[in-house]
Amino acid sequence: MINIQMVDLSSQLKNIRKEVDQAIANVLDTTAFIKGKDVQEFTNELSQWNNSQHTIGVANGTDGLQIAMMALGLKPGDEVIVPVFTYVATAEVIALLQLKPVFIDVEPDTFNIDVSQLDQILTNRTKAIVPVHLFGQVSNMDSINEFAEKNNLYVIEDVAQAIGSEYKGKKAGNIGHIGVTSFFPSKNLGCFGDGGAIFTNNDELAENIKMIANHGQKVKYYHDVIGVNSRLDTVQAAILRVKLKELDSYIGRRQNAAKFYDQSLSVVDWIETPARFEDSTHVFHQYTIKVKNGKRDNLKEYLQDKGIPSMIYYPVPLHLQKAYSGLAEKGDFPVSEQLCDEVLSLPMHTELDKNQLEYICSTLKSFE
Ligand SMILES: *Cc1c(COP(=O)(O)O)cnc(C)c1O
Repeated sequence: MINIQMVDLSSQLKNIRKEVDQAIANVLDTTAFIKGKDVQEFTNELSQWNNSQHTIGVANGTDGLQIAMMALGLKPGDEVIVPVFTYVATAEVIALLQLKPVFIDVEPDTFNIDVSQLDQILTNRTKAIVPVHLFGQVSNMDSINEFAEKNNLYVIEDVAQAIGSEYKGKKAGNIGHIGVTSFFPSKNLGCFGDGGAIFTNNDELAENIKMIANHGQKVKYYHDVIGVNSRLDTVQAAILRVKLKELDSYIGRRQNAAKFYDQSLSVVDWIETPARFEDSTHVFHQYTIKVKNGKRDNLKEYLQDKGIPSMIYYPVPLHLQKAYSGLAEKGDFPVSEQLCDEVLSLPMHTELDKNQLEYICSTLKSFE
């Protein structure tokens, strides 16, 4: 039987294995496991690739979001706007810093923040907004930036799923004040463990971010502010240097797989293929369809029986999670609530071939 995976890291690695082995071996030879030269070189290369002034490596994307909020000087009680249809990390760090997550619904087609609702939730405590470029497509940044500027808010882009996507020709992560990405292994640019990075084009913010990520010190053993310990390891940076060279090609392959899905599945009347937002490219961290007529869960089981994995990103919106209860009620964010019942992410990675895609699509179409 045909072997299909949600994410095929093993086949991807085969093609770059020699280079990766060599990169790791070089780090072992130097034993500079923390702050080795690959960290500086990788972040420089990523700055260039992403057209960012500054890229600061951190231990993971969640830390990156936390450090971004600390660097902006957000204080307990400050309100931060965040979509309810997202991965939990975004809201988690807001709550951990004793800031207040203020939830907002998303658009039913792009899954990104519904900017028409921003005015309703603005208060005099609102300090920042975190657009999540979900599944690989950039949010409506012109409207978000305009709203932020008018109301003196910071904009932190969550680029964990969208590295390389472009909004009106500008790379994601450069469009707000700070951008944060993740190198979790299954992300579009993934390392072999945890890792993350923070982008900014503001020199002063970059200094602050570096200081906070490094125990609040600019000079060793002199601590100006309370910081954290969050670093991108040298081994991970060395691996990421190899993978960064492939990233344009990886994105192209995801887009080709998406094109195949689009063409094949757009004729199925109970499936809605992912909508494109004309101002942004889509790098397809996920290819997420909406399954109509209450068929989603049965479809998922049917696919599984035929050897096709699929995932529900995400089954429960943030406001209905136990950890975040009390901030809102069921029914408050109807679009996200409905999406949680309808979305299904299909296999999406760099190694999908035509055979696999044909099999997935014909199986989908054979479901009644
Ligand atoms: C993966 C992810 C994160 C967190 O990244 P980690 O590196 O796993 O901490 C944050 N936000 C979104 C939207 C993500 O998908």
